[in-house]
Amino acid sequence: MKEDCIFCKIIEGKIPSQIVYKDEKIIAFRDIHPMAPVHLLIVPTQHIAQVNDVTVGDECSMGHLFTTARLLAEKEGIAEGGYRLVVNTGNQAGQSVQHLHMHLLGGKTLSVKLC
Ligand code: 5GP
Ligand code: ZN
Repeated sequence: MKEDCIFCKIIEGKIPSQIVYKDEKIIAFRDIHPMAPVHLLIVPTQHIAQVNDVTVGDECSMGHLFTTARLLAEKEGIAEGGYRLVVNTGNQAGQSVQHLHMHLLGGKTLSVKLC
C-alpha cells in the first residue's frame, strides 16, 4: 500500500469503484472514463509502479493479469468479438496512474492506430 496512490486506495476500499473481480493477487474495476463499452482496469493488489519495476518474483502475479483478462473478457461477452489489452509504461506512453495496470478494452471495433 502506497499512501498517495489512487489505485492502492481503491484496493483498500477507501475510494469507491465498480469492482468486477477481486482475489488475493488482483483487483479489476471499471475505468472512470471509459474509452469503449467495456473498459476495465486489471490491477495487481501489490503496489508496483510500472513495468520497469517488475522482477522475476512478480511473474506469478503478472501471469495472473492475463488469465484474469481472459476470464473477464469472457464474462463481459467480448472474448469472441475481440478485445485489446494495454499496459502504458512511463510518461511518453501516457501512464497517468503510477500503479501498474492493464486496460481491457472491447465491445466495439477499436481503432487500429497504436500511436
Ligand atoms: P493510464 O493512463 O495510467 O494507463 O490509465 C489510468 C486509467 O485510470 C485512466 O484510464 C483513468 O480514466 C483511470 N482512473 C484514474 N483515476 C481513477 C479512479 O479514481 N477510478 C477509476 N475507476 N479509474 C480511474
Ligand atoms: Zn498503488
